[in-house]
Amino acid sequence: MSDCIFCKIVAGKIPATKVYEDHEMLAFNDIAPARPVHVLLIPKKHITSLATAAAEDAPVLGRMLAKANEIAAAQGSPDGFRVIINTGRVGQQEVQHLHIHIVGGPDPVGPMLKRL
Ligand code: 5GP
Ligand code: ZN
Repeated sequence: MSDCIFCKIVAGKIPATKVYEDHEMLAFNDIAPARPVHVLLIPKKHITSLATAAAEDAPVLGRMLAKANEIAAAQGSPDGFRVIINTGRVGQQEVQHLHIHIVGGPDPVGPMLKRL
């Protein structure tokens, strides 16, 4: 996807502070962190969102979730973290390349969502 900013980060055309990389996924610091640890973990393959992910994408998505704890601990969140995957309009997804927010730090991240 030539106009996708996260594909451009994968391709090295836009700089990012990478914190983990292997053949199928890349993790880098969010440009506007919401917590002391705020990493975005993405598949190198362009997948628009969880709403468009196919069954064949399930293995890499599973391996990404399985990597989150290692990335969080290495970045300064060894006692837990939160993952968030904003999806589509209702999920208020801003970047249309599937990404897992990994947020944490030394202190609890705060309430999940305001209750109804
Ligand atoms: P979304 O709202 O789509 O779940 O989250 C998109 C995230 O991407 C936001 O937290 C935003 O700060 C981050 N972001 C947007 N553009 C860039 C960029 O060019 N570089 C990095 N590192 N993060 C970005
Ligand atoms: Zn992309």
